[in-house]
Order: sequence, then C-alpha cells, then structure tokens
Amino acid sequence: MTTEAAGAGALLAILRDGQARTRAELMQLTGLARSTVSQRLDALLDQQWVVPADGAISSGGRPAVAFAFNAGARIVLAADLGATHARIALTDMTTRVLAERSQDVPITDGPEHVLGWLVEEFTSLLAESGHTLADVCGAGIGLPGPVEHTTGRPVNPPIMPGWDGFDVPGWLGPRIGAPVLVDNDVNIMALGEHWAASPEVAHLLFVKVGTGIGSGIITEHRLHRGAQGAAGDIGHIRVAAAADRLCRCGNLGCLEAVAGGAALAARLRAEGAEAADGRDVVKLVRAGNPTAVQLIRQAGRDIGDVLAALVNFFNPGVIIIGGDLADAGEHLLAGVREVIYRRSLPLATQHLAIRGRELGDRAGVIGASVMVIEHVLSPTAVDRAVAVAER
Ligand SMILES: [Zn+2]
Repeated sequence: MTTEAAGAGALLAILRDGQARTRAELMQLTGLARSTVSQRLDALLDQQWVVPADGAISSGGRPAVAFAFNAGARIVLAADLGATHARIALTDMTTRVLAERSQDVPITDGPEHVLGWLVEEFTSLLAESGHTLADVCGAGIGLPGPVEHTTGRPVNPPIMPGWDGFDVPGWLGPRIGAPVLVDNDVNIMALGEHWAASPEVAHLLFVKVGTGIGSGIITEHRLHRGAQGAAGDIGHIRVAAAADRLCRCGNLGCLEAVAGGAALAARLRAEGAEAADGRDVVKLVRAGNPTAVQLIRQAGRDIGDVLAALVNFFNPGVIIIGGDLADAGEHLLAGVREVIYRRSLPLATQHLAIRGRELGDRAGVIGASVMVIEHVLSPTAVDRAVAVAER
C-alpha cells in the first residue's frame, strides 16, 4: 500500500461505513504499523472526524478502545433551487437531514436576491437546530440550468435571467465562510438517488421528467459531467414521434417537445382540459382523465425510445425516473419499460432495473449534500487538512 493510500484520509474512508473499529482491526485492514495507525487516528481525533466508541471488547476481555466516524462533526448546507421553488436543508456528514424548509422563490429574481435569501434561510435553520456558521464545512447548490461545475458559474441558462456567468461560490462563499459547490439540479438529483442505491449500483441513469427532460449519469459510482458539463441533456435528442414539432431550443423533433411536461400540458389544453404545467398533467392522470393517461403512457414510450438507445450505449444497472411527471406513477414507467425491454439488447437489459425515484422531492438536497461530503471527506482533502493542522 502506498503512503498516500494509507494516509489519515484512507483510514477515515474505512470508518465512513459507520462501523466502529479497534486499532488492531485498522492495522489489519490497512497493513500499517500500530504506531502509524495511532498517529493517523490522533490526527483524525484532533479534526473531530473520529470519536472513541464504546462497547468493543478485546479478546482479553478488557474493553478495547474502538473508533468511529463522527457524522455530526460538521454541518452541510444544501439547496435545490428550481425555477419557482426552493428546498433547503442542513445535513450531517452522512446526509441525514437535521432541518429543512421549502418555499416558493422565483429564480428569475436574480442571483443576489435569491442567494441573499438563501443566506438568511441557512442562518435561521442553523439557529433553529442549535448550530452556527462555524460548524459548516460547505454548501452544495443545485440550479435549474447548465452550470460549469469547476467554477460554479451558470452558463447561458435559458430560464435564469441575470445568472449567466455569475460567480455563485465567489458571492456565497465569503458570506457563509465555507466552500460552495454548484451543479445543475438534474446532476444533484442523480447524486442523491445514487447515494440511496449505493453501494450495490455503480452505473445509474437518472432521468428527470419535468417541464423539460434531462438526465444525470453515474458511472463507476461517479457523476459523469462531460467535457463541458453538458452530458445527459437527453431532452433534445431527436425522436420519430416528435416529427417536425418545434422545440424551445429551436430544433425540430426533440424528445422534450413531445414528452416534456410543458408539451403534454399544451396537448391537454388543445383537448379542452385545464393544464398549465406538468403538475396539472399529473393531477389529471390521478383523477383518471383518459386523455391524460393515454398521453403520459405515450410520453413514457417516447422517453423509452431514447433510453433504449442509451441502454445499449451505456449499459446502466439502474434507470430511475424522477421529476414532477414521475408522480404520475406506473403509467409513465410502464411506457418506458415497454419500449426499453422491446428495443434494447437482451444482455444490456438482463439485470436492468427501471424504477421510480426513491427520495422523492428530497433527491436534490440529499445529492447537494453528497457533493459537499465527497469533496470535504475525499482522502486527498482529509490528508491535506491534517497536514495543514500539523504544520
Ligand atoms: Zn430541443
């Protein structure tokens, strides 16, 4: 084992499964000498990432000192900002939600207004749960548009006037005194759902079917963002069913133009039903409106058409259908499954699971929390923090 692989960060990575371990167990797992394990543990105890745990009994019958990951060592701030609605949460270092809130906040109010509101809400949630900004190790923010993840700046977001190129971490970081990580809402939802499905699922495709359609790709347990962070934008793949229908992106025949919530609502209005958006479509489906049921099932098939190709290409272990329209339940999923199992290669679908979201509306904030936790607790980051503290 290399020195780096067996650093304090690597030791912490072992303990993050929640199981307490003695020095002897850690020596066995890492192959490190007793003195080295003790030294690493001291550093982790200093940083409060690890705490002594009770109850371990050594072979001699004496109580042995065991060590456990301290999930409450720091607090994570998480926000899932949608087009009109925001959900925010405080979590511990295992994504357990300590406090949360959701409220209507139009993203069109612009970055300084929305982020200013966010600082106030975070501060009040911290106070409510007996914490202060000093306990915070980072903030994860999801935005409803394309984001350059490395800089945390939105890139030409279509529904976010005033946000293009805005330095979200640069504005928010100094106000909360912690690092700020930003990504688009679909990616953080994918992270959240993958967290819930882990560790069994290494390759996951999360599909958000809301007003528009997008996806987040997890491969080898990691988010695949692509060269420009545009990976997963499947709403603008051409489908036969869309024919020459005009999409909001300016192209003809996009999946979103025929199967997105906005498209379905427009079709229902043309039939005389009252449907302003995807949520109204779901209401009509639940009320048993036959046209709405038929439309959502067909939307499932159209989405399945695109996903069948992606299954052959990417071979995911799980596909999760989320977003507002996922609340229409089995009708949407049935259409998706029908086409994927018919069209994809048998080897690729042999063990493929296609299911609805597990975390519901919380997927975004859980995923935003995961983004921060993986950043702060990565072995390299932990080793660096330990080295700085020891200097
Ligand atoms: Zn399009």
